[in-house]
Amino acid sequence: MMTIKTSNLGFPRLGRKREWKKTIESYWSNKINADELNQQLTDLHKENLLLQKNYNLDSIPVGDFSLYDHILDTSLLFNIIPERFQGREVNNDLLFDIARGNKEHVASALIKWFNTNYHYIVPEWDHAEPKLNHNVLLERFNYAQSLNVNAHPVIVGPITFVQLSKGGNQTFEEKVETLLPLYKEVLQSLADAGAEYIQIDEPVLVTDTSEDFEDITRHAYDYFAQAGLGEKLVIQTYFERVNLKFLNSLPVKGLGLDFVHDNGYNLSQIEAGDLAKDKVLYAGIIDGRNVWAADIEAKQSLIEKLQNYTTELVIQPSSSLLHVPVSLDDETLDESIAEGLSFATEKLDELDALRRLFNDNDFAKFDELKARYERFQNQSFKNLEYDFDSVRSSRKSPFAERRKEQDAQLNLPDLPTTTIGSFPQSQEVRKQRAAWKNNRITDAEYNDFLESEIARWIKIQEDIGLDVLVHGEFERNDMVEFFGEKLQGFLVTKFGWVQSYGSRAVKPPIIYGDVKWNEPLTVKETLYAQGLTDKPVKGMLTGPVTILNWSFERVDLPREEVQNQIALAINEEVLALEDAGIKIIQVDEPALREGLPLRSEYHADYLNKAVHSFKLATSSVADATQIHTHMCYSQFGQIIHAIYDLDADVISIETSRSHGDLIQDFEDITYDLGIGLGVYDIHSPRIPTEEEITTAIDRALQQIDRSLFWVNPDCGLKTRKEDEVREALTVLVNSVDKLRKTKSTTV
Ligand code: GLN
Ligand code: ZN
Repeated sequence: MMTIKTSNLGFPRLGRKREWKKTIESYWSNKINADELNQQLTDLHKENLLLQKNYNLDSIPVGDFSLYDHILDTSLLFNIIPERFQGREVNNDLLFDIARGNKEHVASALIKWFNTNYHYIVPEWDHAEPKLNHNVLLERFNYAQSLNVNAHPVIVGPITFVQLSKGGNQTFEEKVETLLPLYKEVLQSLADAGAEYIQIDEPVLVTDTSEDFEDITRHAYDYFAQAGLGEKLVIQTYFERVNLKFLNSLPVKGLGLDFVHDNGYNLSQIEAGDLAKDKVLYAGIIDGRNVWAADIEAKQSLIEKLQNYTTELVIQPSSSLLHVPVSLDDETLDESIAEGLSFATEKLDELDALRRLFNDNDFAKFDELKARYERFQNQSFKNLEYDFDSVRSSRKSPFAERRKEQDAQLNLPDLPTTTIGSFPQSQEVRKQRAAWKNNRITDAEYNDFLESEIARWIKIQEDIGLDVLVHGEFERNDMVEFFGEKLQGFLVTKFGWVQSYGSRAVKPPIIYGDVKWNEPLTVKETLYAQGLTDKPVKGMLTGPVTILNWSFERVDLPREEVQNQIALAINEEVLALEDAGIKIIQVDEPALREGLPLRSEYHADYLNKAVHSFKLATSSVADATQIHTHMCYSQFGQIIHAIYDLDADVISIETSRSHGDLIQDFEDITYDLGIGLGVYDIHSPRIPTEEEITTAIDRALQQIDRSLFWVNPDCGLKTRKEDEVREALTVLVNSVDKLRKTKSTTV
């Protein structure tokens, strides 16, 4: 029997207790100096390497560790520096300034890394002068070797790097061409330093558009092969299937494929004979993006299959482990649940179990993991019964009729004004929450604090003159974690952090069992706020699609089923709010767009299911109850029909950064439901002028019926300062007042 090897693609940077974040933020706030920063990060890098070494991997990645983002590292390596930051020494300070902006210049854009919640810094080519800067990758590789770690360098490949970048007047091909000699030099330096292979990440090769890049991809890898580097290169892909015939034709040592998120297509291409026997297969068999223990027996049979088609097999996670928390060791979880989980180190242990099984005929660890897996699958928290058909998935009456009842009940003015839900999570709010979590104040004291904050903000909103008020979401840490803490079937970890961008990490809840609503989650605060004012207060909930997208989802059930379970729970909450007399309920779906599958052939199915879940959550209310939703991104083009199908009475959306584009999207469709346009950018501390707001509204009104139109900021205000919020909302309300007057004089 041939032996198998094990490897990894990338490891979480954060450290077990988010040491990475603490170090970097201490540097930003001048608590440590540049030397201390370097020292502490080197220590953490070492710890990450040695931690991985415990699992007997044949090779450990280097180049995944970074001060901020690995794409930004690559931009610096090749001197792709945004024009406004050019002329400075290339060092960590420059790196942080590009990532975060400084007093003079705005930061580079952050964009979601494929369909994950990780964000990379977009390389900017305008007037860039590509050349090779200090070779940090080589330095880190040498460092790993000095620790006696069997390492392989990781670098993002030229096709993916260029595809993810923007600006410059060169063509795609010209940019790649410019980079090739620089790549060659770096790859050569790594080969000279003793790298057995180099993992060159080309995830764009799994996307719809990969066909457009085939010629230039071939050209790039031919170029490397001519330099004698082909035998060192492994083209690594993840998150979807590849065109294996094409990849197989490239002159490289090996191919890295995802066998978890490929809908079975990578395996079927291999079975069809599309992989040459002499290519080393780097098989991503352990899910790198989720936290579930592997079905280890299924992995065993996958390996057995793959062995028939290659002479050299390396097993590894399906993607970098950047997308999962570090280790279960620090959690204090109920053992019956912990048994079903697997974070980064546990995933490496699964690989080790398989390696021992195949290479040494050692069943011990394999059998143990198998038993754990089976016990977890047979748990009682996984067998609730649902009757999805008994819950309405369309409103009782069409919008035109609902609208009459809502208008009669709400009696709102022309161009009603509102906000998106949250008000500043001030230091005081965070301090009180922490005190309550650590039992330093009682439930009653915390509740008193929340009520005083709600009351203060109801008064502020009334004074400013907004029409539909909100309670402010002070009781919530995060719009998904909050529901995760309260709904049955969800688990919230202590240290389950995952990097989102830069030093920001999120702690996605884990959906481990069937989801159930047991008691009202938001009614108390909403009712308290409503009791203080005659104006309507909006109930504020997170929708099923967003809750699912921002959680670790179950994989033992179809995604749609879990999403519908959440929808039923949210429906209960919607009804509880309605029962309590709340007349407007907003169900936020900011993550609906990001869950869109990478390949367009799956879009319709995803969107249909998303729309259905949203409607399950929101359709049971009376006609007179007004359902709002909110989304905050501007590329609506692909999903505009799905948004319309949600049949929400009012949608509020982010537009302030791209008015033109959005209005365009709305030209393609007769959008005859209520719509609130985000008239100013809440991501900036800048206070908008009346003129800007008026212009934005005027422009939109050329496209959208005035009687359907609402005015609001473009997202929640939790990250803003109190003064900024007061001022900006005052400007907003004043602008609308003037527009109302001009209307009444012209009519
Ligand atoms: N209601 C949430 C808030 O105002 C919405 C946040 C979001 O769209 N991301 O904070
Ligand atoms: Zn938003």
